[in-house]
Amino acid sequence: MINQTYVELLEDKDIIFELFAYANKRRAEVGAENVYDFSLGNPSVAPPAKLHDALRELLDECDPVSMHGYSPQGGLPGLRKVIAEDINKRFGTDFSPDSFFMTCSAASALAHAFRAVTKPGDKILAFAPCFSEYKVYVQGVGCEFGVVPPDTETFEINFEAAERMMDEKVAAVIVNSPNNPSGVVYRPETVKKLAELLEAKSAEYGRPIYIISDEPYREIVFSGTEAPFISNNYDNSIICYSYSKSLSLPGERIGYIAVNPKAQDAEMLVKICTQISRHLGENGAPMIWQRVLEKVLPCTADLSVYEKNAKIFYDALTSYGYECAKPGGAFYMMPKMPGGNSDEFMKKALENDIIVVPGDGFGCPGYFRIAYCVPTERVERSLENFKKLI
Ligand code: PLP
Repeated sequence: MINQTYVELLEDKDIIFELFAYANKRRAEVGAENVYDFSLGNPSVAPPAKLHDALRELLDECDPVSMHGYSPQGGLPGLRKVIAEDINKRFGTDFSPDSFFMTCSAASALAHAFRAVTKPGDKILAFAPCFSEYKVYVQGVGCEFGVVPPDTETFEINFEAAERMMDEKVAAVIVNSPNNPSGVVYRPETVKKLAELLEAKSAEYGRPIYIISDEPYREIVFSGTEAPFISNNYDNSIICYSYSKSLSLPGERIGYIAVNPKAQDAEMLVKICTQISRHLGENGAPMIWQRVLEKVLPCTADLSVYEKNAKIFYDALTSYGYECAKPGGAFYMMPKMPGGNSDEFMKKALENDIIVVPGDGFGCPGYFRIAYCVPTERVERSLENFKKLI
């Protein structure tokens, strides 16, 4: 019999892709240059040239049989060594190549992490505003998902609400800083306060509460912003990383899970990822991209356009009267909807060919997300229309 869970999920429409589809329709009607589409978090810059050079070299030089062979368990040892050395150099940590397990991007890393530290019926919390897909990912593990309501002043953590929601069923919390959808980077004192709360609650309930640190935007931090490295603040932490944004490779599905070497049962947590990968039907990460990364890392795409776009948008929108937490990284920001009525605002925005995402799906009704991973001239040309909206 057909699985009704997935049939029901069809009803749970992905508003972001619906808006993107609408934008495509409008582009055909009025011309691409007249549609200000800020709906999707698809990087707008090319991967670094040396990545394509490395890919060409591989095609020319590598034995085709071994090039396409199965990945070794956990991923290529040489690649994991390069990644561990880079992380340790930048953050003063003590990760070993065996702390890493290569995955099919951040979504897959999250799927591994959730399964590694929970059993069905446990609870996983995220802090609003948060990535809308977490709900679906957590449902897939059979856990309960809770969203801690936002602190709308700062878009950091609402500690009062977090403490209230942290009962004995909570096995893990998801931290995502720099954040999708707000672009906010948690300050060091926020991360410290969270670590203290989790340590106290872990002691109270006699079980570790893990931080699952979802870090696809780690490399996109703007000047003047200090981004604390979660693993340096909390031992029972797991990093979920992807090269989708830092190397502009979202379609290639490559990333990793990294277990803090100081975490309880750290070695076993990495070891069981092999079994989780079997459960997920992945059996490792794509080999071509592991080989390419082994040749080119550490490096990123030229990410500077995101900071430039953030500044133009933030300065202009706040000067028009929009209220907005200042983004410190990623390529999103989340202003308050003028008037506060989501349906009215979205209608008016679409009439002005401004395509943004309402905050409801991110646990933040009354706000909207702008994804400014677009050419700067589109940001500049859209400003008049944003002015009209307020
Ligand atoms: N986590 C966050 C916060 C994201 O924004 C995304 C994608 O946009 C993901 C996870 C999933 O990343 P990936 O597509 O690399 O799996």
